Amino acid sequence: MHDPTAPLQQHGPAEAAQPLLLDSPHSGRHFPSDFGAAVSADALRDGEDCFVDELWQPACERGVWLLTANFPRTYIDANRHAADIDLELLEGGRWPGEHRPSGKAAIGKALLWRTLDDGTPIYARKLGVAEVHERIARCHAPYHRALAERIAATHARFGISVHIDCHSMNAVSGAQGEGGAGRQRADIVLGDRDGTTCDPALTAFVREVLAGMGYEVRVNDPFKGVELVRAFADPAAGRHSLQLEVNKRLYMDEPARARHGGFDRLQRNLLALVDGLLEFTRARRTRPM
Ligand SMILES: [Zn+2]
Repeated sequence: MHDPTAPLQQHGPAEAAQPLLLDSPHSGRHFPSDFGAAVSADALRDGEDCFVDELWQPACERGVWLLTANFPRTYIDANRHAADIDLELLEGGRWPGEHRPSGKAAIGKALLWRTLDDGTPIYARKLGVAEVHERIARCHAPYHRALAERIAATHARFGISVHIDCHSMNAVSGAQGEGGAGRQRADIVLGDRDGTTCDPALTAFVREVLAGMGYEVRVNDPFKGVELVRAFADPAAGRHSLQLEVNKRLYMDEPARARHGGFDRLQRNLLALVDGLLEFTRARRTRPM
């Protein structure tokens, strides 16, 4: 049963039934009561990959597992390392544990976001260390644990795991967007951190399938993939992760945060991609079912 107050939700079979698995870390829209933000819940949806969970949901009918976050990305970003702390957001400006800045703090988008995409501060206060620890323990850690366990179980069963980390992007970048403000995004951007998180043949395959559907596809430009494709990937050992960003203009009216007529077509095309990926992976499996 769907419990929106749970940090995450797992869709599809309880046991690994396919070598392909999906996650949507940024489609959550349950706002925890301890958020303490200074901007409205609607403004906080700025960071949301709206409907991405629903776009990929039909893959579960093929036995593909899908992990989705219920917490909003602006509360804590599952696609960051747990030690990617923005010190500017903290009381006293100091973090007592490991600190691994990714550079995302410069655009206000480290583990805990400091600003919205247009630069508006999210908080009118500093956050305490205990509060940050609590968000990590309640939301970030279980999300990463669920994904890590499923990748391990999938790999153990099939000798290969193909993980697609599913996102969406604004049609035009905001003031603090990657690559600068006012940039038109392509239809789809694939990120494999410059060929390090999956077999380049997988990236090429996904690119070809999507280009064949008429989409303009870019690779690692401007989104290379962040923590979720990095953390569990080991292409040489058969553990592949690829980030896939779809442009919101393909399926929604951004200002209204509502699906438009293009949603169904994109959803069908993504399911066709899933079928293609299952075929692609079947040929590379080292263990039979
Ligand atoms: Zn995202």
